[in-house]
Amino acid sequence: MNKNHNYIISDHIRAACFLIGDGVKPAGKQQGYVLRRLIRRSLSSSLALGIDISNLQYFIDLVDSVIGIYSSVYDEIGNSKELIVSIFIQESQKYLKAISIGEKEWQKAIGQKPVDGFNEELVSEKIFDMYQSHGVPMELSEDILEKNAIAFDEIKLDELIHNHQNMSQEASKSQFKSGLGEQNEKTTRLHTATHLLHKALRDMFGENIRQMGSAITSEKARFDFTKDDRISEEDITKIQQKIQITIDQYLTVDKREMTEKEARELGAIGLFGEKYGEIVTVYSIQDNEGNIFSQEFCGGPHVKNTQEIGKFIILRQKSVGQGLKRLEFDLI
Ligand SMILES: [Zn+2]
Repeated sequence: MNKNHNYIISDHIRAACFLIGDGVKPAGKQQGYVLRRLIRRSLSSSLALGIDISNLQYFIDLVDSVIGIYSSVYDEIGNSKELIVSIFIQESQKYLKAISIGEKEWQKAIGQKPVDGFNEELVSEKIFDMYQSHGVPMELSEDILEKNAIAFDEIKLDELIHNHQNMSQEASKSQFKSGLGEQNEKTTRLHTATHLLHKALRDMFGENIRQMGSAITSEKARFDFTKDDRISEEDITKIQQKIQITIDQYLTVDKREMTEKEARELGAIGLFGEKYGEIVTVYSIQDNEGNIFSQEFCGGPHVKNTQEIGKFIILRQKSVGQGLKRLEFDLI
């Protein structure tokens, strides 16, 4: 259990540092939301281990350890040290405040318990409302309620969460559409190629290969991932061939929306929010018989058929920190 919490803390903090280094700020949606979730999960794991998260030195040490490992290769992280620490501290204060509001509000509510008990639907509304307006973690509310033997309507709560998510989903969709202008044909082809590379790396080196970042311009693309040893030249050639063979199979790229739970069950990979039940977009690269080659959570855009990608080449491999490799690639 402790091992699990420690893993969550270091893994999430590392990912959060990368996002902040890339210019992401905690927010209520999209990447900012992913960042906030990463920080929150590391905070809740810290609390579970009995760590005092109001202690600033704790974050300074954690962030220092990530920066110590990656800053020589990731200028963005080294240069953002103060920003990263300050974001962690701000988020931790917000989190502690939300917890304290939650505890107080529930104490007050429980003190006014009607003789015939609470209306379960109203309790659900309160759980959701406290989450919405003060960021009170729903797990905290559920914990407190359980300790006080107060029931709530789970279906009602799911409904409230779901309706809220649909609304945010619509908002982020229209935002995405307006951002499409910055995409071009080349970056779209490179993006689909990134998915093929991700898959090829996992096929060759195992499922513990984890994407740590990627960047695409019209000139080239890079893909950063966790791997200890350098990839041999022979294996680089193999990866390149593997990807080309896939491209030349003229696979179709299929877009589907589903709940995150369904996507996880399908085995979709990629960076995603951690809100249970959220509707996500999954891109599958598959043949005519429906055999799936790659399946990732992603916002797109992608080519319709791998044929459009053309010829894939790996330009170079770089070691970008302890346990972290980068492949730069292009299409011709
Ligand atoms: Zn993608």
